[in-house]
Amino acid sequence: MRFDELNLKPQILKALVKMGYETLTPVQEQTLPHILAGRDMIALAETGSGKTAACAVPLVQAVDPARRTVQALILVPTRELALQYVTEISQIAKYTDIESFAIYGGFSMAIQMGKLNHGVHILVATPGRLIDMLYNTSLRLSDVQTFVLDEADEMLDQGFEQDVDFICSCLVHEHQTLLFSATMPTEIKRLTQKYLNDPVLVELNKEQAAPASLEHCFKLVKPHHRLDTLLELIDTEKPVQAILFCNSRRGCETLYDHLKKKTDSVEMIHGGQDQNKRTSLFRRFKKQQIKYMIATDIAARGLDFAHASHVINYDFPQNAEAYTHRTGRTARMGRKGRAVTFCTPRDIQRLKSILRQNKITPIWLGQEPDLSLPPKRGKQTGKKHGPRGGETENTAHNKPRRPRRQNRRSSGGAKPH
Ligand code: ADP
Ligand code: MG
Repeated sequence: MRFDELNLKPQILKALVKMGYETLTPVQEQTLPHILAGRDMIALAETGSGKTAACAVPLVQAVDPARRTVQALILVPTRELALQYVTEISQIAKYTDIESFAIYGGFSMAIQMGKLNHGVHILVATPGRLIDMLYNTSLRLSDVQTFVLDEADEMLDQGFEQDVDFICSCLVHEHQTLLFSATMPTEIKRLTQKYLNDPVLVELNKEQAAPASLEHCFKLVKPHHRLDTLLELIDTEKPVQAILFCNSRRGCETLYDHLKKKTDSVEMIHGGQDQNKRTSLFRRFKKQQIKYMIATDIAARGLDFAHASHVINYDFPQNAEAYTHRTGRTARMGRKGRAVTFCTPRDIQRLKSILRQNKITPIWLGQEPDLSLPPKRGKQTGKKHGPRGGETENTAHNKPRRPRRQNRRSSGGAKPH
């Protein structure tokens, strides 16, 4: 289906042409008409399938620019995603008078509120900052007609469950709710039952969690040979651009120090960095000014790096979902991409479960292990996702459920509920 077959505002069509969007992606085909029709929706889809525009196009279509109030609210788990979302919306809304804006922690609430007072129609927010602003500023959501929860599973993984629940409960008037997620854990089922009204269920990732254009390669490594193996791999694979995942900040720093000696074009990104730095690194990576980006899980969820040819799991991912999200950074929109995952002997059991859960046929680079062997006697198979290689960033799935950010309600606001 083509965008010009939908009854969209001419300004939107003009913008979509400029963006090079002519035909709808499968996710867009299945979701966009329901969203335009005002239905509540649960959409489960693989990463890189065009969910942002699936949502942003109908929002820009539905918003009334003459009313200077927040008419659409999009909740995302990270600041980078908020920025990415707003960038996409402002491109789609380029020829309209519709204003979109992102609010997230780390910036002055007063300045963000100033912008909001000037008239913002579509607001993208991270949960923590949104709640802070609801408590401490005059921000009101009573005109929100569409509420979007993007990367809902990630939001809950990051410990935002109560916050999301609280925000949902603030929207008491009639409105449309759209939930996008790669997976459907029980907490999300619960949320949808509580807050969605007769939702359409669109499921596009049933058969396969990963894009078909993605090759899943694996390489056996000895723990102490990781770095040498990586250097050999870079030599043979010759990535155009690669994201290298580590499980911890410390792991990132160590790898960064080593790679820095071999190439100029390497940077690292993790949750401990200052926001401006992270944003500028993302931009530079997107513009292909950086070749190798070392990252933790928290830094890369949902982000669209269209040119990344490789994802390298330098540290073995914590579980099948983390694997899906990491490797989903490449092979976006039908482009080819390769994921290479380093496995040490102790990762083999988890590897088996990832292969099974994600229905992956592995391509082994070098020696192929015998996966039919029973687990070695030892503790690590019973202990499901033990932290490895130092402390993990808090997207890891083995963390305690709800890491509260500090100073959250320092200004004395009441507690939700
Ligand atoms: P998701 O949120 O599903 O992970 P994104 O919304 O980030 O995926 O989209 C992935 C990429 O696809 C982006 O680079 C986006 O610009 C591009 N894209 C989205 N829709 C279209 C379309 N209809 N035609 C061409 N490219 C598209
Ligand atoms: Mg997305």
